[in-house]
Amino acid sequence: MSTLEIRDLVAAVAGKTILNGINLTVSSGEVHAVMGPNGAGKSTLSAIVMGKPGYQVISGAVLLDGVDMLALPSWQRAQAGLHLVMQYPTEVPGVQLVDVMHHAFAARGMDTAGLDDRLGAEAARIGFDPALLERALNVDLSGGEKKRNETLQVAMLEPKIVILDELDSGLDIDALRDCALRIEALTNEHNIGVLAITHYNRLLEVLRPDYVHILVKGRIVSSGGAELADQLEIDGYAAFAGNDEPAGGALADLFG
Ligand code: ADP
Ligand code: MG
Repeated sequence: MSTLEIRDLVAAVAGKTILNGINLTVSSGEVHAVMGPNGAGKSTLSAIVMGKPGYQVISGAVLLDGVDMLALPSWQRAQAGLHLVMQYPTEVPGVQLVDVMHHAFAARGMDTAGLDDRLGAEAARIGFDPALLERALNVDLSGGEKKRNETLQVAMLEPKIVILDELDSGLDIDALRDCALRIEALTNEHNIGVLAITHYNRLLEVLRPDYVHILVKGRIVSSGGAELADQLEIDGYAAFAGNDEPAGGALADLFG
């Protein structure tokens, strides 16, 4: 049983405060959805939890099983069991996924016996062309192939807590369903805890959230169960955001 605890997190980028006191606790086997309009600070939150350079933590804490993550470099956070699937997966010319997996397993002290066979099996399960395992990481892959690739890595590494920053962006409905189903299975089979950042309910129709949090202007303005995402679909963020937010219910208006 593991717990990621984000406590009163206030953080800035380029001198501008983006997160205004975030409190969020994700435990093994739970799916928490964080939904919010563009610019709310969703990617900033994921970047700070994982330790992307360039962000200033002003106050607050990020703890994994009581260990201060903010004091560690990103690679040690990953070793500790955090994993981030980025909104725009990075292309890494000259580096094959199979090599990344061997190094990641070794760095975590995980058994590499039969690793190539397991990679092949995972590729088949997620619908990722096995030929791509030996191509440069994410280079020239389609949006769907990139997210299948990222999901495959989650399945192989079995982190304690995975953060999905818009797993649903840039891929078609079939790929989205396959990736969401695989993550959902990981929560059941391996008790992975999930922080799923998304604009839309579509992801959450497959990856069913236990909790939904609405993030507006760097603050969680509402938390509830899966029904909150359904309500959002009807009312839009304006209902949660106060008078200075765009009016009107259609989510499409907010995300041109
Ligand atoms: P979201 O993921 O919810 O759409 P982001 O976390 O990406 O929002 O961005 C929140 C705010 O922080 C935006 O106003 C964005 O312009 C700003 N921001 C994010 N990263 C940077 C950066 N590296 N430099 C300057 N501003 C940034
Ligand atoms: Mg974002």
